[in-house]
Amino acid sequence: MKIINFPITMPFGDTENTVYPTLLWDDRNIILVDCGFIGSLPFLEKELHRLGLSVEQITGLVLTHHDHDHMGAAAAIKRQNPGIKIYASAAEAPYISAHEKPLRLQQAEEIQETLPPEQQEFGRAFCEMLRRVEPVEVEVFLNDGEILDWCGGCKIIATPGHTPGHLSLFMEKVSIVITGDAIVLEYGKPVIANPQFTLDIEQAEKSMEKLLSLEAKAYYCYHGGIYYK
Ligand SMILES: [Zn+2]
Repeated sequence: MKIINFPITMPFGDTENTVYPTLLWDDRNIILVDCGFIGSLPFLEKELHRLGLSVEQITGLVLTHHDHDHMGAAAAIKRQNPGIKIYASAAEAPYISAHEKPLRLQQAEEIQETLPPEQQEFGRAFCEMLRRVEPVEVEVFLNDGEILDWCGGCKIIATPGHTPGHLSLFMEKVSIVITGDAIVLEYGKPVIANPQFTLDIEQAEKSMEKLLSLEAKAYYCYHGGIYYK
């Protein structure tokens, strides 16, 4: 049984951006938690190969929420491995499947109206990118408090705020929390994800406190890597 937090680095023009999905790997399941940006499948594959795995071997994909950097490669993964099961909260599912307009896109379009002229182009490009996120159907809804048998027990923790249906995972036996965007690591400190993109800041702060109060030994942050408490 292995719980692996690994980087995917994706080039963006002159810069690059690294995110850290997690793998829950036991003898029955190989679960990927979040999967990177639009177009990141080849980068994900490279990392999986390094671990001795292929996309076809992954049995499940948990999406902590519907943001492009977490679900961007989900539809491509599902195409390559149609047997993979897609998991998310019921509250997040309509945005992941685009049965409803994703909240992030709604927010970006609203902000676009208020941007000063010099930021208009950036805002437009951001909206365009969000429209390119390929939806995927959520097949299994995850509920707060539910325990799955992945890696000896994986408890679902509702951590709303960043988005309404955001969820985190608590691997109680090994004392590891997989935070999604409920906690990000900035200069070695745990903080809530970018407040500008946090749909309910008060809720997000409560969710971060909830995770920290679990007193886990390690917090696997999608942005920033591992935080040891
Ligand atoms: Zn994120």
